[in-house]
Amino acid sequence: MKLTVVGCSGSFPSAESACSSYLVEADGFRLLLDMGNGALGELQRHCGLYDLDAIFLSHLHADHCIDMCAYFVARYYRHEGGRCAPLPVYGPEGTEHRLTTAYADTPTASSMSEVFDFHTVKPSTFEIGPFLVHTERVAHPVEAYGIRIEHGGRTLTYSGDTGVSPALDDLARDADLFLCEAAFTHGKENIPDLHLNGREAGETAARAGARRLILTHIPPWTDPQINLTDAREVYAGSVGLAAPGATYVI
Ligand SMILES: [Zn+2]
Ligand SMILES: [Zn+2]
Repeated sequence: MKLTVVGCSGSFPSAESACSSYLVEADGFRLLLDMGNGALGELQRHCGLYDLDAIFLSHLHADHCIDMCAYFVARYYRHEGGRCAPLPVYGPEGTEHRLTTAYADTPTASSMSEVFDFHTVKPSTFEIGPFLVHTERVAHPVEAYGIRIEHGGRTLTYSGDTGVSPALDDLARDADLFLCEAAFTHGKENIPDLHLNGREAGETAARAGARRLILTHIPPWTDPQINLTDAREVYAGSVGLAAPGATYVI
């Protein structure tokens, strides 16, 4: 599998990065995880506008899904080749309604479903193209999922947005790469069931036995070096910071 960080800024875009969006490729199949603010523009640095094969939305906070409205325009009003065929979109209950109302105040769900084929995510195991994926509810104020993606004997886990969660420990079990949010700073913000800090991300990776940890979803007001140091204090494996355009072969 190849993972490309399209955007990794937490909660709102920074000057350097769009919000959450990660491209996962294997066997020529392209799965996009989340499409937050600014992601659609950045995505075009890494693949063609119409080259995606499926999209997974971890939850419906704007910083993880709002560029789906822009992508609707690109697919629905495509200038060359006509309207795009429906693209599989996996998201929590209500994804179609949420995106439709975000796009226009007079929603027409039928238009959205002409170019997106919505599938409701539940905690389960299923296939997306060549990937075997496992989804679990994680600890966030809205219905939110973490995802474990397996292919060719390798595993990538993406936390989505979450506080400390036993479900996340399970998803990250023995993962080759654990892409984990660390939006908070240890000792500064302490709100349960919202976000992890660097230390908690490191503790999760350690408990899960993940082989490599990449911290992501760090907001512009959070110092990433503090979170990196905090994670390293509790996790002996390799830890890095996500950066736009970074790629990982898993
Ligand atoms: Zn977020
Ligand atoms: Zn969120």
